Amino acid sequence: MLHVPTLSIVAVFVTTILGALLLFAWRREQNSSALLWWGSGYLLGAISFALLSARRIIPDVLSIEMANTAVLLSYGFMFAGARAFHGRDTPLTALLVAPLIWLIAMQVPAIAADINLRIVVVTLCQCALISLMVYEFWSERAEPLLSRWPTIIVLLTQMVVLTLRLPAVLLTPLTATHDFFRSPTFAVMAFSTVLYTITFAFLLLSMTKERGELRHKRAALIDPLTGLANRRAFLGNAAEFMSRGGKRSEPLTVMLADLDRFKAVNDRFGHAIGDHVLQLFADTVTHTLRANDLSGRLGGEEFAFLLSGTDAAEAARVAERIRIRFAEAARSVGGKAVASTASIGVATTNDPAARIEDLMAAADHALYRAKAGGRNRIAVIDCGISAVEPGASIAPAAQVFALSALSRSAA
Ligand code: GH3
Ligand code: MG
Ligand code: MG
Repeated sequence: MLHVPTLSIVAVFVTTILGALLLFAWRREQNSSALLWWGSGYLLGAISFALLSARRIIPDVLSIEMANTAVLLSYGFMFAGARAFHGRDTPLTALLVAPLIWLIAMQVPAIAADINLRIVVVTLCQCALISLMVYEFWSERAEPLLSRWPTIIVLLTQMVVLTLRLPAVLLTPLTATHDFFRSPTFAVMAFSTVLYTITFAFLLLSMTKERGELRHKRAALIDPLTGLANRRAFLGNAAEFMSRGGKRSEPLTVMLADLDRFKAVNDRFGHAIGDHVLQLFADTVTHTLRANDLSGRLGGEEFAFLLSGTDAAEAARVAERIRIRFAEAARSVGGKAVASTASIGVATTNDPAARIEDLMAAADHALYRAKAGGRNRIAVIDCGISAVEPGASIAPAAQVFALSALSRSAA
């Protein structure tokens, strides 16, 4: 027993309040024009529902022409909000297409006089705009927002609910004397509108919030100068990476790189050139490592990389490639003969239980050797030998380094 007047009043007030909340959220996050569209769309929706519900109380031109114009305009605003959410503008004229189709249809006497045909026209326009909205959210799915999926589902559900009106009015047409706005069909519509407006507004706010959190998280984990993971992110990812590689019994390699006499580069050529050199190094690394290797800027001019499935000899070749490519790239920077170079310490282990701290300590030791050996070179420590002895219990990594450190320097 749904009481239509009560439902209508609830629908109007709930939509108004949600519109106000969306506008409030927009005031707080001025950079999100999507919330402005959505908030305004909700307020328009509230007005249209109020006008629709007042059929027979107010003149038909308000409760039919104007009400449905407002309905379609509000759907247009919601669509423009979805585009704005993904950084796209929507020309105002595009928002007027559906309302114009409706107003032109109303010039056809047969449609103007028949509530069934009017419902068909408005429903088709609504469904077209919902499809466009679904397309917007779907096509940007590369941005990982969890709330995107329920948003799409809610839109599709609303489309199904609206579409169900078509067979209803086509199979059992409403007669002129039939009071649609007192009918159970309208009650169900009002009820589903209340549910849809609440859920949809929640999801829109949720998506906005999720995106903000994602951006903060990214900013907290990415080094802005080089675009590499920062120390925290690198160490955080490293532990998981190690245990994955260890489970597959693959050798694991840590490389620590430190630019040579970098203080002098800054002093001689300025901080801006120094920054450029750091970016060059990061680019060289990114282009040399495989996509699934880990890389990070630990701080200053120190970098770390984590590779799996690469034995000590192969790791040495990779490090050497980075060293040579960087020396070539940094020979001349911004027209200045900077000739920056890097030293790289490499530590490889076959111990599946090795810890990142131990492997980093070994790589640091190798780096120290490379620096002491004259810089612009790599040094490798292979910590794997005792760990793969058949039948031997796997020694803690720190011990393995002490037992079997096998180092060599490349000129
Ligand atoms: P070594 O070969 O022994 O590593 O000598 P180094 O001069 O590279 O070592 P040191 O640690 O003395 O100097 C590191 C320099 O890196 C000091 C600092 O000015 C510079 N540096 C750290 N972070 C940045 C940065 O973000 N941008 C620039 N341009 N320079 C940085
Ligand atoms: Mg340093
Ligand atoms: Mg240095």
